[in-house]
Amino acid sequence: MYKGRFAPSPTGPLHFGSLVAALASYLDARAAGGEWIVRMEDVDTPRSAPNADINILQTLEAFGFQWSAPVVYQGQRTEMYRAALERLKKHGVAYACSCSRREAGAGIYPGTCREGAQNAERPLAWRIRTDGLTAAFEDRVFGHYRQHLARDVGDFVVLRSDGLFAYQLAVVVDDAAQRITDVVRGADLLDSTPRQLYLQHLLQLPRPRYLHVPVVTNEAGEKLSKQTFAPTLNARDRIGELRAALRFLGQPDQEGATPSAVLQAATIAWNPQAIPRRVSATRE
Ligand code: GLU
Repeated sequence: MYKGRFAPSPTGPLHFGSLVAALASYLDARAAGGEWIVRMEDVDTPRSAPNADINILQTLEAFGFQWSAPVVYQGQRTEMYRAALERLKKHGVAYACSCSRREAGAGIYPGTCREGAQNAERPLAWRIRTDGLTAAFEDRVFGHYRQHLARDVGDFVVLRSDGLFAYQLAVVVDDAAQRITDVVRGADLLDSTPRQLYLQHLLQLPRPRYLHVPVVTNEAGEKLSKQTFAPTLNARDRIGELRAALRFLGQPDQEGATPSAVLQAATIAWNPQAIPRRVSATRE
């Protein structure tokens, strides 16, 4: 049974980019006769904005989206992430790292703490060894995608030195715990997927199918986000916003008297093959 999800980070109100991601995951799930859930990705608590979660859920509702189970919050699932980290430690693939941000460098982590944390008095992060690994998968839009983990990403953090679990670990644990069969999300996460596949492999979790859609960028080529001051969705023209999101996804235009009616018609017409194979694009 198909089960999809929309996993917003509650850092601010939904913008056109998040509407596109929500819409793609919703239509793909509904067209398959599947379930669709919403998960609040609030692991990075310092970045969460007060009441952003409520605001996002109200907006989704007003745009006609319906989810089939209570919304899950990552902030309440720390124990599951901790258990996963313990398993990774037992496996011998995780190691403690005391490097500061500056010591770790901006690029590939040089592996300074691989044989032992250099300064055990500092708060420790935990990293995963990538060695000579390559991970590959078939994306439903982008086709074959391959990454040399050690060369392109390097040993990556799963528990930060501030005690917060990293997105890469949380998303893998949650997708498995919630029995997600299909991940549909923005193509800015294409290059995160191999790390997630590797964690699934290490934790012996099932691998979902993946479909990445282009991310919406502004005129300067930046991904729409709170940091780039993305405008909020136009609440007075929900149908117009939905239709623009459909066009962005290469889908046929839809008429409809209400947002739900547009969603219903778009579900019937949903054609993932028409999604542009581009990492990003601007709103027309
Ligand atoms: N929370 C992530 C974001 O808002 C999405 C994660 C995912 O879909 O895997 O960018």
